Amino acid sequence: MITFFSGGTGTPKLLRGAQRVMDRHEISVVVNTAEDIWISGNHLSPDLDTVMYLFSGILNTDTWWGIRNDTFTTHEDAQKIGIDEFIAIGDRDRAVHIARGEMLRNGMRLTNATRVLCDRFGVRENVLPMTDTEVTTQVRTDLGLIHFQEYWVRAKGALEIYDVVRTFNEPPSASEEVIAAIEASDVVVIGPSNPITSILPILECEGIRPALKEKTVIAVSPFIGDSAVSGPAAALMSARGFEPSSTGTLSCYEGLVDIFIQDIRDPVDVTNSLRFDTLMIDEKKSIDLAQEILRLAKTG
Ligand code: GDP
Repeated sequence: MITFFSGGTGTPKLLRGAQRVMDRHEISVVVNTAEDIWISGNHLSPDLDTVMYLFSGILNTDTWWGIRNDTFTTHEDAQKIGIDEFIAIGDRDRAVHIARGEMLRNGMRLTNATRVLCDRFGVRENVLPMTDTEVTTQVRTDLGLIHFQEYWVRAKGALEIYDVVRTFNEPPSASEEVIAAIEASDVVVIGPSNPITSILPILECEGIRPALKEKTVIAVSPFIGDSAVSGPAAALMSARGFEPSSTGTLSCYEGLVDIFIQDIRDPVDVTNSLRFDTLMIDEKKSIDLAQEILRLAKTG
């Protein structure tokens, strides 16, 4: 068994390869939930949705969010009526958010709601939210402290960020299912996701770091030089006091990593790292990288 830590873009690209080279029951994914948000009364969990749709074969892999060929009739009509729905939600996607919102309102844990949805979508991999506790990534900007989605989607990332903070009512702790998955794994893979908004929220859940101490941890850098392959990781790294680079990524993970993978193009030299082509521009590239990681996992 391998457990992957995932956000909603970089690591899912790796998972697309992993599902081709591994027995699908041998894959567990611990997914970031700090970008979750209630929209129009329904529960959006962007990273969980992406991973679930990927495994069920319906993900829109042009955007890495939403369902392929979804329509946006409700979203468009809601906006015409005056609802401030700043995230474009597809009609089929919305059905999932309605279902999850209902389950949560009825007191179900997010872990169990995810299991119900994954069963309905025929997902055979073990998809786990990092925690059942609500936690939110917020960024400090000139508009004040705002939800990460307000910054990235509504403001299109065009705001300066001064700080990144996690807000919660009670400190998030990893679910027992997450800890069990890590314990049952030979190796844990921190995929090439945004270190600040996707991976640190997972590492910050109580119970995760001690569980990782016993495991071989492989991490893949999302940076080439001082730029992330995509998205706002560089600005967020700087705001949190980390160098926006592979070096900064490794220091974010604070001694937890045994094997660090950088892209062959990365001009930054991290001592003892391994070099692979990590630019997963198509399924073949995803499969090749997943195969290299599987080989490392088998040899320790
Ligand atoms: P989010 O939840 O949508 O922000 O997605 P993630 O956190 O999972 O992934 C975002 C990160 O993935 C960004 O920092 C990118 O640099 C990285 N990324 C995206 N595609 C690739 C890729 O093909 N290779 C590598 N190495 N990183 C990638």
